[in-house]
Amino acid sequence: MRRETIKLLASYLDSLCPVIYIHHSDFHEVDEVLNRTKEPYMQLCKYTNADRNTLADFIISVMDDAVNLDDDEHHELVMILKDIHDSINDPKVIALIRKISENTMTLPDYHAKIIIIDTRIEIPLELESFIKLIDVPLPDDEEIKECVNNFSRDVNIKLTPDAIEDIIFSLKGLSAFQIQQILSVAYQSGGKIDETSRKFILEEKEQMIKKSGIFEMINFDEKISDIGGLENLKEWLKRKAAIFSQLERARKNKIDIPNGVLILGMPGCGKSLTAKAASSMFKVPLIRLDVGRLMGRYVGESEDNLRRALRLSEAVSPCVLWVDELEKAFAGIGSDTSGITTRLFGQFLTWMQEKRSSVFIIATANDISKLPPEFLRKGRFDELFFVDLPNESERKKILEIHLMKRDKMNGNIDLEKLSRETNGFNGSDLEGIVKEAAEKAFLDGKKTITTELLMSVRRDSKSISDIQTDKIKALRESLKKYDIKPASA
Ligand code: ATP
Repeated sequence: MRRETIKLLASYLDSLCPVIYIHHSDFHEVDEVLNRTKEPYMQLCKYTNADRNTLADFIISVMDDAVNLDDDEHHELVMILKDIHDSINDPKVIALIRKISENTMTLPDYHAKIIIIDTRIEIPLELESFIKLIDVPLPDDEEIKECVNNFSRDVNIKLTPDAIEDIIFSLKGLSAFQIQQILSVAYQSGGKIDETSRKFILEEKEQMIKKSGIFEMINFDEKISDIGGLENLKEWLKRKAAIFSQLERARKNKIDIPNGVLILGMPGCGKSLTAKAASSMFKVPLIRLDVGRLMGRYVGESEDNLRRALRLSEAVSPCVLWVDELEKAFAGIGSDTSGITTRLFGQFLTWMQEKRSSVFIIATANDISKLPPEFLRKGRFDELFFVDLPNESERKKILEIHLMKRDKMNGNIDLEKLSRETNGFNGSDLEGIVKEAAEKAFLDGKKTITTELLMSVRRDSKSISDIQTDKIKALRESLKKYDIKPASA
């Protein structure tokens, strides 16, 4: 825990403040700090939600004991309540905490304080005015370095400054306790801490994502060479990947760490494919944020879920955070009566602006007119790209990629003719033609695909432009109003 946080805690403990709420996931660390910070006259009594008693019963029993305190010794009772977000809304608990708070603030001989330590922030309205909140930040570079140095001293291994730099980078976003745990598991499995530990640390982080249930961890095989066309976008991503592969050096040379990209445009044209291929080019995990999954039932729950999600993304960074269908994720801003979406959106924007971590955001969307204009402002994303329906040469490339994938590419296929005849088709339609032709050839017992077969499938297929003519037209019109870089060369 940082020095300023410990100082703040000590000052609240010293003051008349009746309830201190510490938002932190590392209870061990808070315990240690409390043991160091508390005054000798303070008597600590602890409760966790794993105890048999209900929280209300616990508070009542402690208050009964408090009556028997020997006042001459100026004891102060400090109740430490851990992980109580499920019981804090119980009206009895609220009434008890309120009573203790009022007594502490008004009665000179009343000596009791409450410290709540929780992984979530759950504060009933009735108690807001009595509570001081301490939101414990995750360890910064200096603290991580201290943890790593302490560890290497404990197990008696020598680390080069380069190895320390490298490890600090991968350990960012974890609590001190998690760092300790990961280092010891990495050490036990390899007998050393070096660049191989970094891979191990990343694997551990992937586990954290899966266990959290907040994100979807996307596994994929797509590479940048699987994308036909979109040359401007691919070139731009290649440059960012080059920075990502040497982040520490880039940082030292005062190069801005890539923040993210917004890819807008037609359906089925490779936006999702790009998110996957980019993360394989960046050589980092791809996690998908589903804003719908964050919505909670209780007041403040959704905001807390988003805070946890963003923290977790930082914990597993470097990573690519993919927000699919951005316009739907934050739909209803300004019009939802509860105001939750608006608050989530504000929280997300602030995080995007202030984040210093190596979380690269790839947001994808179809309909720009439904996007809050704040997303389109400079400074949020590094760049905005517009993906249109593929042009003739892109169609040729896409057809070739999908034929090659199925081992059906041969010199006799007239790709030029096919790409000329597929104006208005998107990538997904083109893939569909190849798939269908391959299936037909297989059922007819033929090993190869001919141009005629592909053309006959094409004649029987409808393109997205045929099926969704109005939608495509409207999308293109709305995108025209903005000055967005074309993804195609
Ligand atoms: P949506 O807006 O509907 O989510 P999208 O733009 O994200 O669409 P993708 O999911 O990337 O579309 O594309 C669907 C499939 O179509 C891909 O998995 C891929 O097989 C094929 N495809 C689309 N565009 C391309 C492309 N440029 N190159 C190769 N394949 C493509």
